[in-house]
Amino acid sequence: DIGNAGDTLGMEIFVVGGFVRDLMLERPIEDVDVVVEGDGIVFARYFSSIHHCRFHQHRKFNTAVIIFEDGFKVDVASARLEYYATPAALPVVENSSIKMDLARRDFTINTLAISLNAESFGTLIDYFGGVRDIKDKIIRIIHNLSFIEDPTRIFRAIKFSNRFGFRIGKVTANLIKNALNVGAVKHLSGLRVLSELKQIFSEDNPLPAVQTMADYGIDKVIHHDLKLTDTTCALFRSVGKTLAWHDLLYSDDVYPRWSVYFMAWLHGYSFTVSTQIADRLMFPIKEKELLLEQRIKAAQQIRLIEKKHPVSNQQMYRWLIHFKTECLLFMLALTKKESVRKAISHFYTHQRKTQPLIGGKDLKSLGITPGPVYSTILNKIIDEKLDGKLNTMEEEIKFAK
Ligand code: ATP
Repeated sequence: DIGNAGDTLGMEIFVVGGFVRDLMLERPIEDVDVVVEGDGIVFARYFSSIHHCRFHQHRKFNTAVIIFEDGFKVDVASARLEYYATPAALPVVENSSIKMDLARRDFTINTLAISLNAESFGTLIDYFGGVRDIKDKIIRIIHNLSFIEDPTRIFRAIKFSNRFGFRIGKVTANLIKNALNVGAVKHLSGLRVLSELKQIFSEDNPLPAVQTMADYGIDKVIHHDLKLTDTTCALFRSVGKTLAWHDLLYSDDVYPRWSVYFMAWLHGYSFTVSTQIADRLMFPIKEKELLLEQRIKAAQQIRLIEKKHPVSNQQMYRWLIHFKTECLLFMLALTKKESVRKAISHFYTHQRKTQPLIGGKDLKSLGITPGPVYSTILNKIIDEKLDGKLNTMEEEIKFAK
C-alpha cells in the first residue's frame, strides 16, 4: 500500500535501516522506517487520508509518523541534501536521492534499503556493502570522521556488536580509539551518554558490551574511578539470571530493565563517587534517587536480611514492602544465599500484594472512631493474612471487631 501511494504521487519509496537489517538477520522486527524521495510529509498526509490513519508531522526535520488503527507506526523521512552556504547559515533543505540519505547513517549494516514502488518492488539497495558485512558479521562505519561527527556512534557500535555478536572492524575500532583520544566522549553531554548507556543496559545481555566499553577505556572517561571488576561481571550475570526468572513468570510487572544493570554497574562505589557519576550523566532527579539512595538502601537491606534470616513473614513484609520491583530484583541478584533468595521471591510472589479487603469505611460502619487505631487494625489484619489467615471479608470484619 505504501508503494502504491508512492506511485500515485510519483515518489520513490524505500523501507530502510534497522528494518532491512533485522529482516536479513531473521530477527523480530519492531520499527518500520521509510524514506521518501521527495516530501515525506506530503506522502504521509496522503497515505493517512486514504487509509484512515492518524499522522504527526515534524516540519523542522521533514519527517512524519503514520499511526495505524491498531497502534502500528511507520516513520517517514524525506531524502534530502543539506547545503550550508556559510558555516553560520541555516541549512537550505533540498530534495535529493536515497543514496545521500543512506550515506548519512552510522554503520554499513544500517544502510540497506528495499524499494516499495510497484515497478521495482523488493529490490534490495546496497551502496555501502551492508549485505557483505551482515554475512561477515562485522560493524563498519561508512566514513572516517563518523565518530568525531557523532560520538554517540561509539556506543551504538558497541551496542550492535553485542546484540548481534558481530565484531567491530579493525579500521572502525581504530577510529573509535582515535575519537576517544581526542576527547570525543569526554565532551559529549551527560544526557546523550546516559541515553546510550540506558539502551545498552536494556539489551538482553549487556555484559559483553560493558566489557567492550571497559576495553576501550570508556568507563574511565565517564569517571576515573570506574573499573570493571570480576565482582561486577559476576553481579551482571546474576542480574541476567534474576531478570530472566522474573520476566518469564511476571511479564506483566514492567520495570526499567536498564536500571537493575545500572545498579549493578554502580554497586560498590561510594555515595560520593556514585553522585559524581550520576551528575556527569545528568540523571533526572527521580532516577538519581533510585540509583543512589534506593540502591544503597537495597544493598544494606539485603545484608541485614542475610544476617537475620530466617525471620517472620511479617518482618520480611515490613522490610521489603517499600522497595520498587527493580530494587527487589537487584537484591535478589545481590544475595548469594539461596535461602534468602527463596524468602525474597516468596515475598514477591505471595506477599507483596497483601492488602486488607476491608477499609476505613468498613471500620467506621463497625462504629470505630476514625484515628490512628485504623492503621493499627489494618496492619494487624495484614499480619494475619501473611500467615494465611483471614481469607474473606467476613473474617476480617470479625477480627476487626
Ligand atoms: P534498534 O533496533 O536499536 O531500534 P535501529 O537501527 O532500528 O536499532 P534507531 O536507533 O532508531 O534504530 O535508528 C534508526 C536508523 O537511523 C538506524 O538504522 C541508522 O541507520 C540511523 N541512525 C540512528 N542513529 C544514528 C546516528 N547516531 N548516526 C547515524 N545514523 C543513525
